[in-house]
Amino acid sequence: MHLHTYMSMEFHCTKCGGCCMHIGNVILSLRAGAADPSDLRHQLFMDFPFGFTATGACEKYDPATGCTVYNERPDVCRVDKMFELYYGPVQGLTWQQYLYAQAGSCNMLIDFLGLDPEKKVWIS
Ligand code: SF4
Ligand code: SF4
Repeated sequence: MHLHTYMSMEFHCTKCGGCCMHIGNVILSLRAGAADPSDLRHQLFMDFPFGFTATGACEKYDPATGCTVYNERPDVCRVDKMFELYYGPVQGLTWQQYLYAQAGSCNMLIDFLGLDPEKKVWIS
């Protein structure tokens, strides 16, 4: 099924920056063996092409302007692409289930990092 036929619900990223500030910690956790290396999600994160700071922020993240390589950002940074590659075919989630799960992850990250609660994601 083509993407446009099931994307009637949309994910509205609030640009809180949480995922960009935390991605290095996710990658370090995977490298430490927290996930199955044969898992596609693991591989996608392992393929992440950029470095990160000591706190786990992506080197391409600018707190003032956001992602500095937005149009060329890797697949793990693209909500729709991760659904097409992994969460739909491998995890078996519907687009709706995936969006709610993604929003939940964003909102947990916003709490964890102490970011502005106004940036929490709502699905519509
Ligand atoms: S954590 Fe979620 S809402 Fe925040 S920037 Fe990343 S995708 Fe957007
Ligand atoms: S490439 Fe861009 S969107 Fe992806 S983590 Fe880095 S700053 Fe964020």
